[in-house]
Amino acid sequence: MCQSYRKPCACGQKTSEIFFGKMVLDEAAVRGVYCPECSPTVDLDPKTMVPDNGWVLELDADVIAAFAPRMEMTSDDVTAEKVFDADYVTWVGFSPEDNRTRSEERAEIAKRFEGDLKGQFEALKQWALDRESRFYSAGWRKATQKKTQFH
Ligand SMILES: [Zn+2]
Repeated sequence: MCQSYRKPCACGQKTSEIFFGKMVLDEAAVRGVYCPECSPTVDLDPKTMVPDNGWVLELDADVIAAFAPRMEMTSDDVTAEKVFDADYVTWVGFSPEDNRTRSEERAEIAKRFEGDLKGQFEALKQWALDRESRFYSAGWRKATQKKTQFH
């Protein structure tokens, strides 16, 4: 699994896990993360911010402008949403807390089906399917995009 960057939100109650795809950007590109509790305090700037299901990811305008050419954009047309959607700065998984909740859920299923490998396999398979549609119906940006992409 690729290396992830853990960034607490502005109010400090939650922690997001961020992934930098294609090795272009790093932590310097992330200015802030806001969970549903603290995001109502920010003025949404479409140039630097990506709203996602109550969360907001804020990128650094100067950094993304400087790296725009390496992302096949220009410093004028680069936006946080484009950077996010092209996976240069994105969540690990479908949501900011996906990585953590995924491990917790998996561990729970493994425990429930201890000693029953077949049962565990079936349960994990079902869980993976349900999970994806859960993110989709919740409206997470990456889940809904993936659906459109494959349809
Ligand atoms: Zn917060």
